[in-house]
Amino acid sequence: MGIRGRQYTPMDEPVFNKAIPGTEALAGALKDTFGAFRSGLGITEPVVSVNCEGCGAPLSGHRKEVVRCEYCDRETQL
Ligand SMILES: [Zn+2]
Repeated sequence: MGIRGRQYTPMDEPVFNKAIPGTEALAGALKDTFGAFRSGLGITEPVVSVNCEGCGAPLSGHRKEVVRCEYCDRETQL
């Protein structure tokens, strides 16, 4: 007959799971990149609460965001 399936030899598999020099550093760099990217979008900024400088009404929003007081229309940067 002579019909042979494709032979699977583990030796041919790429060694993804083996330690590659610099992998951890690369992962760290990627993590930092994503962190910067996400904070750039304001996603990771924590929500903070402050009181309006004008009337003392509670304001909340993401840090560095400018919120407008609904009572006195004063804009406050968080
Ligand atoms: Zn206010």
